[in-house]
Amino acid sequence: MRSLSIFGATGSIGESTFDLVMRQGGPAAFRTVALTGGRNVTRLAEMARALQAELAVTAHDDCLPALRAALLGSGVEVAAGAQAITEAADRPADWAMSAIVGAAGLAPGMRALRHGRTLALANKESLVTAGPLLMATARAHGATILPVDSEHSAVFQALIGEDIACVERVIITASGGPFRDWTLEQVRNCTVAQAMAHPNWSMGQRISIDSASMFNKALELIETREFFGFAPEQIETVVHPQSIIHAMVGFCDGAVMAHLGPPDMRHAIGFALNWPGRGEVPVARLDLAQIAKLSFQAPDEQRFPALRLAREVMAAGGLSGAAFNAAKEIALDRFIDGSIGFLDMAAVVEETLARISARNGLGNSPTALEEVLAMDHLARHTAGDAVRARL
Ligand code: NDP
Ligand code: MG
Repeated sequence: MRSLSIFGATGSIGESTFDLVMRQGGPAAFRTVALTGGRNVTRLAEMARALQAELAVTAHDDCLPALRAALLGSGVEVAAGAQAITEAADRPADWAMSAIVGAAGLAPGMRALRHGRTLALANKESLVTAGPLLMATARAHGATILPVDSEHSAVFQALIGEDIACVERVIITASGGPFRDWTLEQVRNCTVAQAMAHPNWSMGQRISIDSASMFNKALELIETREFFGFAPEQIETVVHPQSIIHAMVGFCDGAVMAHLGPPDMRHAIGFALNWPGRGEVPVARLDLAQIAKLSFQAPDEQRFPALRLAREVMAAGGLSGAAFNAAKEIALDRFIDGSIGFLDMAAVVEETLARISARNGLGNSPTALEEVLAMDHLARHTAGDAVRARL
């Protein structure tokens, strides 16, 4: 029987993973080692009971009594805190889903890789902040990383059986989000609710807003660079409003292989769950005659400066991804709480990168998790200053 753990089980990706695991037999087919969540302990406890998990961990100490009460008599062990989540990755499991949101997902993922596990990686911040370290850790310990972000799963699938040396370019698609056709002025004055209204995908709040600002695509460009190792100039993005093609790979003979699928994360999660084979996944099947048209347009870097910033980060390499992500997280928090406007987010990130500069080792490749966390800390602090300067 395969064993698995889900980090970030109560989130959007975690729920979809749980759903697929239940459909594929639940506790009769999988031994669930650990499930982790944040504040939603009621749901975490329900999942832990349904999968007969060995351990349920909440990120927050103050949530532990509620989790303990909800799991009374179930036989499920409980724990709390960031350290307990990372230690949950020490427990032997064949497969782990990394679906915590934000930089908090990095440490447990790294720990799972150190044990040589297969890590289904949805947490894009891990690759953006610590790509070289993560990939080196996987190599050193014989671990496997399976990308779960839909674009990267698509590239991964298009590359099966191919000679990587023959790849000329990779194109990841962007829906363009809710503001694809808005003017710069409209975008400047948008609300949080408008930014969350993604036209094609149903996702968590933070990633939905990141999609509207194209910070999500910026993170994904960096993620592509770190995971597959392509040069920055080989990685492109194109706006594709229908979100049917997720990525394309162009080869040296002129062929372009495209991966098509419905905009439903259960496809990419199901691919990772069933890898190296394929399994039945209950997503809607594409009706191409009904879709009728697949269209493409160049992204507008004036309305979406995050894409230009991603290019600068890819060129600088090293710890600049950690600084970029941390500054973006602070800017996003301040947009959500109404302190700054939508376009201020990119300005805050740009200002943070400029303030930190090469002097603070922005281009140095991280050799330990502590260096990444130190840069994350510095960038959060600096971004806070940059926000205050704009108030
Ligand atoms: P959600 O916000 O829906 O869920 C996040 C999960 O992490 C929840 O289980 C939450 O717990 C938990 N969590 C929140 N903060 C912490 C913390 N500090 N420590 C430990 N756990 C915490 O996120 P998504 O599922 O949307 O995204 C998860 C990751 O996958 C992100 O990195 C995202 O970029 C990536 N991703 C998501 C996609 C999507 O379609 N949603 C697509 C591609 C990538 P609780 O809710 O109980 O508080
Ligand atoms: Mg994606």
